[in-house]
Amino acid sequence: MTVQNYINGEYKDPISNQWIDNYCPANGQVYGKIPNSSKTDVENAYKAAKAAFTSWSQTTLNERSKILIKIAELLEANIQHFAQAESQDNGKPISLAKSIDIPRAASNFRFFGNAITQFASESHESTGLNAINYTLRQPIGVVACISPWNLPLYLFTWKIAPAIASGNCVVAKPSEITPVTAFLLGKICNDAGLPKGVLNIVHGLGNTTGQAIIEHPYIKAISFTGGTETGTHIAAVAAPMFKKLSLELGGKNPNIIFADCDYNDMLETTVRSSFANQGQICLCGSRIFVEATIYEKFKTDFIAKVKDLKVGHPSNANTQIGALVSKNHLEKVMHYIEIAKNENGKILYGGNKVTIKNYEDGYYLEPTIIEVKTNDCRINQEEIFGPIVTIMPFKTEQEVLQMANKVKYGLSATIWTNNLKRAMHISNQIQAGIVWINTWMLRDLRTPFGGIKASGIGREGGFEALRFFTETKNICIKY
Ligand code: NAD
Repeated sequence: MTVQNYINGEYKDPISNQWIDNYCPANGQVYGKIPNSSKTDVENAYKAAKAAFTSWSQTTLNERSKILIKIAELLEANIQHFAQAESQDNGKPISLAKSIDIPRAASNFRFFGNAITQFASESHESTGLNAINYTLRQPIGVVACISPWNLPLYLFTWKIAPAIASGNCVVAKPSEITPVTAFLLGKICNDAGLPKGVLNIVHGLGNTTGQAIIEHPYIKAISFTGGTETGTHIAAVAAPMFKKLSLELGGKNPNIIFADCDYNDMLETTVRSSFANQGQICLCGSRIFVEATIYEKFKTDFIAKVKDLKVGHPSNANTQIGALVSKNHLEKVMHYIEIAKNENGKILYGGNKVTIKNYEDGYYLEPTIIEVKTNDCRINQEEIFGPIVTIMPFKTEQEVLQMANKVKYGLSATIWTNNLKRAMHISNQIQAGIVWINTWMLRDLRTPFGGIKASGIGREGGFEALRFFTETKNICIKY
């Protein structure tokens, strides 16, 4: 499949005619090519967006809402096609693409299509001064949305939907590793009646296409999801130009399990929070801390459950663990298994490449559980972003809180306990943007989403996203 750029409502080859191979993670073969767009392609995308802005920013909220909801409906109507494409491009099980990724991409459009009709601004009557202040939240202009490969269409649309709902025009770049569903989205937008130029999608490498976007002097805001290192670079480039930034970065999230939890519920969910999407979710609970009194029991039961997980070809309906996204990523993840061994981590289960008959070159890895002695080791401190979790026991609330916080990241945390006082105490003290108590990844799109420390700045989700994508202006009238 040849992926093309989507600029001004039309599919176009890159001006330079430079292309990158696109690999299928399930079999390691090249199955398509994608543009490696240059500065000129980005400039063309910017010009199309700028030309569309005057009219789009004046479109009524009802009209915008109608178009966004139509995009959601068309995604739902084409769910099979999109799910297959996502699974082939990313290596994730088709069941996951069908039940999570594509439905959520549709929900993103529907949610922000509705949210924009409810988004209100404030007014302040300045009592005694005969004045009234009111606040406008106006679209910014041309904004950038840059997304990663782990939840390709899900995260791409999580940015695009609020950006266009609030009246901006967009230059967007999906990950070069998983470009296909973003490519398919262009046609859906045309069919839904999105005016040309409102959304422009350019494909290519981070350090060429991505760099041209973040350096563009008139793209005034960047919503970025990806690695902490890339986020640091983007912040440095954007700061002197005073661009508005939302950075959703890496994580190394604690999953804290107390003996008084609902054990079976915790066990089921912990398998998911460890290995869903091959562990390639920024919210995965990759550091598992278990209260010492149930540590041995947990270890036995967890290993038994994880052994049952079926690693297989993503298009097989029974597959629970598909392929990792790329050869490079597989190698990086496997390197951490070596690091663990050198640090005296004990591999309790997994640790090996899996070979699937007829797909021997695919990027498969066993779900892996490593017992560690200390939270200070590299595999407990660095983001691995694959099917690897560590486990270790703790004795006291204070001790586990200290270990949970002793990491550079602060994205999410999960706490399993039926002791309300303890749950409240830990969730108040824990350094994370999102805390789940007795659940994991339960998402309500109205809630603020984002991390602290090296996990990023800014919040997306609900009205937070609409606030990010608008410029606030206060007007004071004296009467
Ligand atoms: P990445 O940082 O390598 O790439 C993300 C995107 O940035 C890609 O589209 C890439 O092409 C682009 N990019 C790279 N260099 C760039 C540059 N110089 N200028 C502009 N754009 C550039 O991340 P990845 O490997 O695709 O994704 C994995 C990371 O994403 C993990 O660290 C994970 O934790 C993080 N992530 C965070 C969240 C969150 O919500 N906090 C969600 C998902 C993934």
